Amino acid sequence: MNVLVVNAGSSSLKYQLFDTNTEKVLAKGNCERIGDGGLFSHKLPDNPELNVKLEIDIPNHTEATKIVVKYLTDPVHGVVKSMDEIEAVGHRIVHGGAFLKESVLVDDEVIKKLEGCLDLAPLHTAAHLMGIRGCIEVMPNTPQVVVMDTAFHSTMPAEAYTYALPKDMCEKYHIRRYGFHGTSHRYVSGEMAKLLDKPVEETKIVTCHIGNGSSISAVKGGKVIDTSMGFTPLDGIMMGTRCGAIDPAIVPFVMEKENMTPAEMNSFMNKKCGFLGVSGISGDCRDIEDGYMKGQPDCVHTLKTLAYQIKKFIGSYTAAMNGLDAIVFTAGIGENTPLIRALTCENMDFYGIKLDTAKNDAAHHQGDSVEISAADSKVKVYVIPTNEELVIARDTEAIAKAL
Ligand code: ADP
Repeated sequence: MNVLVVNAGSSSLKYQLFDTNTEKVLAKGNCERIGDGGLFSHKLPDNPELNVKLEIDIPNHTEATKIVVKYLTDPVHGVVKSMDEIEAVGHRIVHGGAFLKESVLVDDEVIKKLEGCLDLAPLHTAAHLMGIRGCIEVMPNTPQVVVMDTAFHSTMPAEAYTYALPKDMCEKYHIRRYGFHGTSHRYVSGEMAKLLDKPVEETKIVTCHIGNGSSISAVKGGKVIDTSMGFTPLDGIMMGTRCGAIDPAIVPFVMEKENMTPAEMNSFMNKKCGFLGVSGISGDCRDIEDGYMKGQPDCVHTLKTLAYQIKKFIGSYTAAMNGLDAIVFTAGIGENTPLIRALTCENMDFYGIKLDTAKNDAAHHQGDSVEISAADSKVKVYVIPTNEELVIARDTEAIAKAL
């Protein structure tokens, strides 16, 4: 089945067309600067000489969808003959709230539920709705499916998702830990479970999705029992420009001292903290790594702090699961930065965690799952490139086939 996977942001619309029989990407691309000029790129993995990159006016998400469909069906740059060959569309949704707990076919009821999430993730949800409406307008007869980043975390027990605030307030405002990057945690924990020599019900895995945004999950028996991101994607470990978990009393303290509004404080915690704030240099891990290698003290301090925070989550999740079979590193930093993996896993022999330095150093840009633990490590440590789009394509196919 040909499934179009759409990831709509407020000013962008990324897409990948999958042939789910071979699980190959036939074409992929991005509409950027929607509503502010427009930049379109279209890539054909098997025919890169036919790739397209052009500046083109893209006023809204409906026009973006039209451009995507035009190029997917183009006689020269396309990969299918007509729109009918795009058999289903799968949309990535950042926040499904407590309402949308599994992938589902879009209908009026689902749209209403998504509108109910506007409060929880306003920018993302508004963009997703524009993407869905654009696709429905351009492809009215094609099944549309939504796949939520929060869904895989919906199995968390109450003790893991509860914040110690008054119960009625949590109920009134739907305040709880939701977790994010669920589709990535689902993919890499599934791949990892296949590599372990035991039934999935018995597996205990910590998945570390370390990218621009980062989250860590405890996956026991194939189900999430805890995750580091919370009510919003600001919780958990420090990230590129996000502060992660801090003493909550710092928030009103800084607001008062710096005369900030709630919106300014929110923006500050999302955009000015993390690697950028701690190093004073950059929010991009590659810059911090360069500085670390040169012995720049702020960069050394930043990466040591990051690794320490990851280490603490691995430790606490091992306690929560009463054991640990495997750790997985994934996403931009997890897949490409041996230094972070090494700093995280050093001095963890008490837990039976031991890296093979040579394997760890060699494991990047390989595209496959790679073991980086030493032969005598009790806990397996792997680098597994994430593939959220493939999970979305698989779920979308399953739902569309059942119609
Ligand atoms: P996002 O959360 O935006 O999807 P990514 O998972 O792409 O983020 O991660 C981006 C981070 O990964 C950046 O801090 C970047 O420095 C780091 N990184 C390190 N090496 C690479 C690489 N080879 N390619 C892409 N990102 C890399």
